[in-house]
Parts: sequence; structure tokens; C-alpha cells
Amino acid sequence: MNLILLGPPGAGKGTQAKRIEEARGLVQLSTGDMLRAAVKAGTEVGMKAKAVMEAGELVSDDIVIGIISDRVDEPDCADGFILDGFPRTVAQAEALDTLLTEKGKTMDVVIEMQVEDDPLVGRITGRSTCAKCGEGYHDEFKKPKVEGVCDKCGHTEFSRRADDNEETVRSRLSAYHAQTAPLIGYYGEKGTLKSIDGMAAIDDVTAQINAVLDAV
Ligand code: ADP
Ligand code: ADP
Ligand code: ZN
Repeated sequence: MNLILLGPPGAGKGTQAKRIEEARGLVQLSTGDMLRAAVKAGTEVGMKAKAVMEAGELVSDDIVIGIISDRVDEPDCADGFILDGFPRTVAQAEALDTLLTEKGKTMDVVIEMQVEDDPLVGRITGRSTCAKCGEGYHDEFKKPKVEGVCDKCGHTEFSRRADDNEETVRSRLSAYHAQTAPLIGYYGEKGTLKSIDGMAAIDDVTAQINAVLDAV
């Protein structure tokens, strides 16, 4: 099964994608993670993307379409993948349709995580991840069981993203409303859209997603 998690920054896409990955053996494909890796490695793509990401704007369609097109060809994607943070523009969605058709694949369901803007700022400014295993945390909503120690791997260093500050979050939310929200209509018309309440607690959101996926 292939699916898209659609929602603004902080909606919970990454958190839920990791849970679906573990429970169902699907691969999480996060364009944000891939771009951050490219920035860190100093590749050509990374050098083009760095300033744009720091400003909270979208990197060019060509770059992310190329990344995704190559990535879904990898053998680990054969049994299914979760797109997290892609597509983010109608042009990306159209390119995705074309490339999936060319590769003989389909998009089975698009899950829209409905959230309000204001609480997202607090979700993002409180976000951290384990520097070793990448498990996601939140200062208030998802603290490690033992303070300062990753639940998953026991590591004691956590990292925060350079763009997870209030000012950049506001730009990212504007980019979402202007460029990404039209995808709700795009997939609504195709009939693959399912909407869930992303303001619920993390476990409740997982339960809603499971109900959607079980019905596919
Ligand atoms: P996205 O990938 O959509 O940007 P994340 O999954 O990284 O969002 O979640 C953003 C932050 O909010 C993280 O710190 C995460 O722990 C927290 N979070 C995720 N889902 C919820 C939720 N349903 N309620 C409260 N906090 C949440
Ligand atoms: P979040 O879900 O918290 O908004 P991501 O990790 O998905 O963050 O994305 C971080 C940044 O990477 C975005 O603000 C944007 O600059 C860039 N980015 C990620 N995915 C895309 C995409 N599909 N198209 C354009 N830019 C992207
Ligand atoms: Zn860890």
C-alpha cells in the first residue's frame, strides 16, 4: 500500500509515519529528512536548498520530484511507502501521478491531518529528536520516560532543527496555506482523500489512521 500524509508543519506527519512504518512494514519517505541530509552532506542539492529551508519557503519542485522519483525505485519501496511532506504543490502532485503511472504504481490513500494553526507553533518550537535514532519528542506532549534519555535507544543527546523557530514556522504555515492546501481539493476530486482529526492526542490520531488504512 502507498499513502500520503498531508498536513501543515507540526501536524504530526513524521510521528505517525514512523508508527505506520513499524506496524505495517511500509517505508517512510520524508523529503524534509532527505533535504536535511543533503544539506549536511554539502551536496549540490543541499547547497541549493539550505537558504530556502532556513527561510521557511519551499525548495523547487524539480529538486524534490527528482529525489522522490529516484527513491521509490529502491527495492525497499516495493511493498509500499508513506510520503511525508511530499507532494507540497499541485505541480508536485501532478508529477507524482505521472511518475507512479510510469512505474506501474498507484497511490491508494491520502490522509489529511486536520489541525488548527495556532497550536502548531507550540508543537514545532517544542520539538526535538534523538540525535542517534531519530525518535521524535516534544517538551510538553511527548517527553522521554526518563528525562534526557531516549526511550528507544538510551542516547542522551537530542537535536532541534534550525528552522523550528517561531518566525520560520509562520512562513512555513503561510507556504502551506498558499501552496499545499490546494492538494486537499486535488485529492478530494480524485476520491482518494480521507480526513482525520489531528488535534487529538498522539495515540488517538494513530487509532484514526489505523481505521482508515484497515478500510483501504
Ligand atoms: P510534522 O512531521 O507534521 O511536521 P511531527 O510529527 O514532527 O510533525 O510533530 C511535531 C511535534 O508535535 C513533535 O514534537 C511531536 O512530538 C508533537 N506531536 C505530534 N503529534 C502530536 C499530537 N497529536 N498532539 C500533541 N503533540 C504532537
Ligand atoms: P515540516 O513537516 O515540519 O514542515 P519538513 O521536514 O517536511 O518540515 O520540511 C522542511 C523544509 O524542507 C520545508 O520547509 C521546505 O523548505 C523543504 N521541503 C520539504 N519537503 C518539500 C517539498 N515536497 N517541496 C518543497 N520543499 C520541501
Ligand atoms: Zn534514540
